[in-house]
Amino acid sequence: MPPRTVDVAVVGGGCSGLAVAGELSRRAPELEVLVLEGRTRPDPRVWCSWDDGSDPVPEARSASWDRWEVRTRAGISTGTDPDHPYRMVRAEDRREAVDRRLAESRVAVVDGAAVHDFDRRAHDGRHVLQTGAGTVEARLVVDATGHDPLPSPQHGAVLLHQRFVGLWISTARPVFDPTTVTLMDFTDAPDDQVRFVYVLPVSPTEALVESTVFTPERRSSIDFRAHVRDYVHRRWGLEPHEWTVTGSESGCVPMTDAAPPRPGGDATIATVAGVVRPSSGYGYARAHRHAPTVVDHLLDGTPAPAFRDTWRTRALDAVFLRFLRDRPDAAPEAFRRLFTLPGPLVVRFLTERSTPRDELRIVLVLPKAPFVAALLRTVRETCVARWRRSACRA
Ligand SMILES: Cc1cc2nc3c(=O)[nH]c(=O)nc-3n(C[C@H](O)[C@H](O)[C@H](O)COP(=O)(O)OP(=O)(O)OC[C@H]3O[C@@H](n4cnc5c(N)ncnc54)[C@H](O)[C@@H]3O)c2cc1C
Repeated sequence: MPPRTVDVAVVGGGCSGLAVAGELSRRAPELEVLVLEGRTRPDPRVWCSWDDGSDPVPEARSASWDRWEVRTRAGISTGTDPDHPYRMVRAEDRREAVDRRLAESRVAVVDGAAVHDFDRRAHDGRHVLQTGAGTVEARLVVDATGHDPLPSPQHGAVLLHQRFVGLWISTARPVFDPTTVTLMDFTDAPDDQVRFVYVLPVSPTEALVESTVFTPERRSSIDFRAHVRDYVHRRWGLEPHEWTVTGSESGCVPMTDAAPPRPGGDATIATVAGVVRPSSGYGYARAHRHAPTVVDHLLDGTPAPAFRDTWRTRALDAVFLRFLRDRPDAAPEAFRRLFTLPGPLVVRFLTERSTPRDELRIVLVLPKAPFVAALLRTVRETCVARWRRSACRA
């Protein structure tokens, strides 16, 4: 088969790849864009985020909550922000909605088209990509294959792995409260690990119950499914015969304050990776907010930058990551206290819209001694890393 020639090849039809493809279809409808997705089956993931108005396919959402809680042995904190509800999107529904929107456009999404070889140097103004669906030639390439789940740690940076296994549970009797998301339940958390359960109740008889841990170890021996089983029994008194598993999702999201890679000098390749927030692992809304910047640069012919938070967010996240790494025993209380603050303030912070005043209120509510220790370690580790880098260059 002769190579298919397009203007733009987007490698990876996940969260960022589809966001960039949609943005290209709106901004440059004359361009022929091919999204090359490796999967042959629908993506089983769900994405949740506080609605900040950035989602270009809001019709794909299937659940929404304006109340959330954090549970610890010391008590429960609840929050609400009716202007920014917590919304859920199934990856499969988002893909269908994107397909519908792109039906009349010059953008096509091809499944089973894993790119196994891709020459990063252009020849005669074209990149050649070998894919599971044949050879593709493109003037511009967007690498949207996602983050490496197990990146190598960078000197002076913190790297925690957010690992989770979630089970979609269907029950014989109504037990779930669909008005409230449990963002974190630490009631059975061990002292040496940041470990919690996340619950998305979509009806009184259906919920995603997810066992999650933040760990510096590259591997984990935790039996996440057993943790979910125990939790379901402890919290709702459900016996094994009273519920069934209808689906699952699992993942490992790196949480790191390592600097994102600088864009190469080549303006014909844009890499859209590293959008997840270091201190939380949330990346869905950030991918949508980053897509217009990537498209600006692609159309201008300038190298697209990586997503970069403001210096205040980076500094707070660096301290928070060290706190989580060094004081897992204190993490439940820190999250409980954070969520005692007014819901809109907490949501501004979690969606990178917080003001210096918001951040001061957050700092004041958190446990002082472990955060001061984390701040001092952040300063020390950053200085040592800078000194090493300058010594290496000299
Ligand atoms: C299970 C899971 C649940 C998450 N839930 C949330 C959440 O609720 N809220 C939130 O804000 N963040 C969440 N995140 C974090 C983050 O937002 C997501 O990882 C997000 O999908 C990242 O977007 P991405 O485009 O970088 O990567 P992805 O969405 O993973 O997209 C990468 C795509 O590239 C494809 N691909 C990879 N290699 C190739 C190749 N060689 N050729 C062709 N295609 C390829 C993959 O199949 C995939 O579809 C979650 C992460 C995981 C893993």
